[in-house]
Amino acid sequence: MRQAFRASLLHCLADPGEGSAPSAVEFIEDGLLVVENGIVLEAGAAPTLLTQLADNTKIVEYNGKIIVPGFIDCHVHFPQLDIVASYGEQLLDWLNRYAYPAEAKFAHLEYAREIAGVFLDELLKNGTTTALVFGTVHKHSADVILQAAESRGMRLIAGKVLMDINCPEELQDTPESGYAESKALIEQWHGRARLGYAITPRFAITSSDQQLQAAGRLAREYPDVWMHTHLAENKAEVDLIAQRFPKSRSYLDVYDQFGLLRERSVFAHCLHMNEEDRQCMAAKGGAAAFCPTSNLFLGSGLFDLRAMRAANIRVGMGTDIGGGTSLSLLRTASEAYKVLHLQDEALPASRALYLATLGAAEALYLEDKIGNFESGKEADFVVLDPAGSSLSKRRTDVATSLEESLFALTMLGDDRNIAATYVAGKRVETRERQ
Ligand SMILES: [Zn+2]
Repeated sequence: MRQAFRASLLHCLADPGEGSAPSAVEFIEDGLLVVENGIVLEAGAAPTLLTQLADNTKIVEYNGKIIVPGFIDCHVHFPQLDIVASYGEQLLDWLNRYAYPAEAKFAHLEYAREIAGVFLDELLKNGTTTALVFGTVHKHSADVILQAAESRGMRLIAGKVLMDINCPEELQDTPESGYAESKALIEQWHGRARLGYAITPRFAITSSDQQLQAAGRLAREYPDVWMHTHLAENKAEVDLIAQRFPKSRSYLDVYDQFGLLRERSVFAHCLHMNEEDRQCMAAKGGAAAFCPTSNLFLGSGLFDLRAMRAANIRVGMGTDIGGGTSLSLLRTASEAYKVLHLQDEALPASRALYLATLGAAEALYLEDKIGNFESGKEADFVVLDPAGSSLSKRRTDVATSLEESLFALTMLGDDRNIAATYVAGKRVETRERQ
């Protein structure tokens, strides 16, 4: 069925950079997004396109709203939904005190299934249509989240966590079981519907050398499968890595030695890296997930976007729930602005949009499928409502330019500003709205 959506259209064609390059962003004030069978046919000026549409095309009007591509979350843990906003610890203590007990509850299949559904509904309510998701060590954690994504028609990548040392015994797998279960999950899920699999070692601290080797073997055997882990988040973590791997040049080098740094490898955080690491990551095609709410909440450090992009590293944003504090990529972008401001770096609203859409698609090597409204891409999109809250309405009412309005919306926005979310051209009803 052919449908057309009339509103202002806004999407990125490239990285606008710190100067908000106008050619990198397309804004069509009276726009029309034409969709057929879940695919974008065309995006352009409504007065022109309306004259060319077949008579039976259904037109949906969103007056005063802005349609942007669906948001993409490059790093998030669905089993940590219920420990978001847990007080007072830095990474390693936070894992022991909050994250591991929460993940242990996922031994129960029905509980895991329930949280998977709740989690995806929360993502969609926030305008997020694709995510790269950590499960738990339990094989069925990947099954339930991928099943839930399939039933919602979402493009989603997830994996069962690999961890066999330095964590509670009940959450440990073994090099052999982790390898075999990941392989079975890849065979079952990777490439099915809109789903992908990510080999998911938690971080180098919680995997033995044997397990990192097994993960590297999987990464070689399945080059189009993703690899998803954490890197250089916290100083105590970086020190532990240096002690355990004295022969490695750096933390990144540890992953590289085990064959885990390649295209489709996504590393969350990347806070404590030097230029040699950045050049190495760029050369091998690794990508970074910038998780500002988490980095501030856990007191981990500040992500250097300018240095990462100067090295040509692919970067998307991640919410990193439960270390992060919101599933909203608008709220995440607001914190990203502040993190960069502290380092004398600029984040124009158009670049924040890029990091949440096309940049994230590039980080996931999905830019041929999602991230903007080029013809032939999948029609995942969000209807932004500048008047979603009384304050955002007042502020955007007095804005004199798109950049000003979008910036205010980025600073003030949250799920109240998401009027509708569409997955493959179909409107998703989140539970609150039913
Ligand atoms: Zn994380």
